[in-house]
Amino acid sequence: MSYRIDFNRPHLTGKEAHYMYEAVSKGKLSGNGEFTKRCQAFLEERYGFRKCLLTTSCTDALEMCALLCDIQPGDEVIVPSYTFVSSALAFVRAGAKIVFADSMRRNPNLDAEQIEALITPRTKVIVPVHYAGVACDMDRIMEIADKHKLLVVEDAAQAIDSYYKGRPLGSIGHLAAFSFHETKNIISGEGGALCINDERFIRRAEILWEKGTNRAEFFRGEVNKYGWVDIGSSFLPSEVIAAFLWAQLERMDVIQAKRKALWERYFELLKPLADEGRFTLPDLPEYATNNAHMFYLVCHSLEERSALIQRLKDNGILAVFHYLSLHSSPYYTPRHDGRELPECDRYADCLVRLPLYYDLELSQVDEICSVIKG
Ligand SMILES: *Cc1c(COP(=O)(O)O)cnc(C)c1O
Repeated sequence: MSYRIDFNRPHLTGKEAHYMYEAVSKGKLSGNGEFTKRCQAFLEERYGFRKCLLTTSCTDALEMCALLCDIQPGDEVIVPSYTFVSSALAFVRAGAKIVFADSMRRNPNLDAEQIEALITPRTKVIVPVHYAGVACDMDRIMEIADKHKLLVVEDAAQAIDSYYKGRPLGSIGHLAAFSFHETKNIISGEGGALCINDERFIRRAEILWEKGTNRAEFFRGEVNKYGWVDIGSSFLPSEVIAAFLWAQLERMDVIQAKRKALWERYFELLKPLADEGRFTLPDLPEYATNNAHMFYLVCHSLEERSALIQRLKDNGILAVFHYLSLHSSPYYTPRHDGRELPECDRYADCLVRLPLYYDLELSQVDEICSVIKG
């Protein structure tokens, strides 16, 4: 079925094919070439990451995090349940037991105040996910991590160009992962980045990234031959992907400005309906900025949400619900410790995402809001 207003449309800036052609004509197609370095340097300079490595996805970057944190079978990792599979999967593949945390009442981010009760002697990592690009309470999370000697891996898949108390998301945890999947603000089809803020992990990250070899050191002239020194995989994307990504990063400010204008329009038009109690709107904590990754509403019940999605569909508009909580997924239910996570369940039942992408028009937002008003 096709819709008059799609839920998502990948935006092209127009320079993608040009840069991809440039990469091809230079005859260097494998990873870690000029475009890769340009993208990494851009992200390091703009956001102050100690080191940034492009990956083929955010999932890959999270798998690198699990390796860098040296997850061993039986280690415990605290992850919100209301998130994408990869936030947990990357650690599960390394043998971790996931201890799921509930969301906050005010927004779907994990509730920092509930973390300490979940810590045991086996806990190794906390994975805050900045849902919709809105920051988790990072000061509180880092304070808990310091106290218990835990590592923090930010799942910043949705959080490019967003801030916590003025600090860029992805620059606060020991490690962080971004996504450039076609549904995110800045895209390369599939793609991601690992950000390393703790110096200790940089050397090993470069080795894991290059199939367990010290190739990066060799090319910098730091060693006179390179070889197999550790585990790893082929986590790096080709130059063709990096060239595509460069066309997007270059236009970041333009993309962000348009997305924010659309987001603000939704908020302004839907605020009166929220004030009447029809649903709740995203609640931005005072410490967080909005990167306009997503516009969502939270209905009062599954029935109300289904009716709203249907009404939009009848008008040719595709709106979608989001995550099914991971603690009640077919894969994890038999492994979960049985704790109830009521806020995660509420978001799984009641949250609806509205269309938001660069090529959406403000007039289409007006139209969507008038259908919602009914
Ligand atoms: C999109 C997303 C991912 C996965 O990103 P990929 O690049 O597709 O691997 C992981 N976590 C969250 C929170 C996401 O939104």
